[in-house]
Amino acid sequence: METYSRIFERVINMVVAKRVIVIGDGPSGLVAANKLRFHATEKELEILVIGNTTRHFYKPDGLFIPFGYKNYRKSVKPVEFLLNGGIQYIHDEVIRVNSEEHIVFLKSGKSYMADYLVIATGNRYAPEEIPGYSGEAKHFYDLQKALELRETLRGFQGGNVVIGSTGTTIQYPQALYEFAFLLDSFLTAKGLREKTEITYLAPSENIGTDSNLTGFIRDKLQEKKIELHPNVTVTSVNQKNKEVNAADESKFKYNLLLLVPPHKGQKAMTQSGLAGETGYIEVDPKTLTVKGNGSVYAVGDSNNLFESKLATSGYLEASFAASRIIADAVGGLSDDQYTSVAPQINITGKDRAFTYLGTAETRIKAITENKGDFMLRWTSNDTYFSTIVRGMV
Ligand SMILES: Cc1cc2nc3c(=O)[nH]c(=O)nc-3n(C[C@H](O)[C@H](O)[C@H](O)COP(=O)(O)OP(=O)(O)OC[C@H]3O[C@@H](n4cnc5c(N)ncnc54)[C@H](O)[C@@H]3O)c2cc1C
Repeated sequence: METYSRIFERVINMVVAKRVIVIGDGPSGLVAANKLRFHATEKELEILVIGNTTRHFYKPDGLFIPFGYKNYRKSVKPVEFLLNGGIQYIHDEVIRVNSEEHIVFLKSGKSYMADYLVIATGNRYAPEEIPGYSGEAKHFYDLQKALELRETLRGFQGGNVVIGSTGTTIQYPQALYEFAFLLDSFLTAKGLREKTEITYLAPSENIGTDSNLTGFIRDKLQEKKIELHPNVTVTSVNQKNKEVNAADESKFKYNLLLLVPPHKGQKAMTQSGLAGETGYIEVDPKTLTVKGNGSVYAVGDSNNLFESKLATSGYLEASFAASRIIADAVGGLSDDQYTSVAPQINITGKDRAFTYLGTAETRIKAITENKGDFMLRWTSNDTYFSTIVRGMV
């Protein structure tokens, strides 16, 4: 039988909408907000998204843009365009979160209070941690850098290309070998492959998500004459000598250096006492709640669950957090425990790719390359903008 206090709580809920603040306007934040809006009326739940991005870039297209395989205009959309009706968007920066009282403080001086918080602030890049990096290394991890790299590749006439990462905690580590394979195709088509040495520096032994995939990628690199150096920890870049220095004192000469910058979580999360020096928020892996607070969630790249930061994990986590909030605030959806299985399409060259499901239990054993998978990945921005990010799947 329902207690009086529970009945009272339900009556209050019926007249006063609860408020959710989603912090961060990347894929995870947008999926969380859009899912919430689908499952609760405006009378039941008020949803605010606070984000500081100027335009929403579909980052996987960063792989195609440097080669001119895609026009960047199809890879960006205004954030407001991607939010379902009935969601308030505040363009501002969160500088501090009081997670106990659910208060969010903004750079503009405003502050907002909520019943639930969903933190989805993702990564920041920290190139300053690698001496010599800035002004020398290229990458494609944001739109501006992908466009700069496109200009560099247009003028490239051959030489040593070094491709690497500065750490193991990065977004979509697969992008590095995918870039190497696409570069091989690109240079072959331009008649420059014979004049180019490609060196691939991997920060650990495992370049794939498991030993099966690692074996496949190693063979593929060898087949394409891309020299692999595993377990390389990049420490600095010597701009004068055009050399990358590693912790074990090895050096790699380059004419063109492609290096993914160090990744960190947001400083504001560290300053709010939600994260340590790395900036990634510690969460309960089964509930995705910030330790010690059941109404505050951290989803997507912002939390400390995975070293490989993947949007597919972010979508699942955002949907899960939204379900739990709905279950608690409105009722009706599951508030089960979180489990994650995220499939990926991996590119192996122009017009070649394969689908892989990277968990020990569910892993695909047969790796079969085909053009269809490449096309699905190439057009994935359409599915992303029209359905995924809007919380429809
Ligand atoms: C080249 C590349 C290819 C990729 N390919 C794939 C792929 O094929 N499959 C896949 O699953 N993943 C892929 N990823 C990874 C994927 O893009 C990320 O995992 C995803 O973007 C994470 O989303 P997020 O919303 O958690 O974080 P983010 O994308 O980092 O978004 C965080 C948002 O929060 C905002 N923000 C940050 N701090 C504040 C603040 N203090 N106040 C207000 N707003 C703030 C930021 O402006 C940003 O909009 C790829 C990434 C790259 C770079």
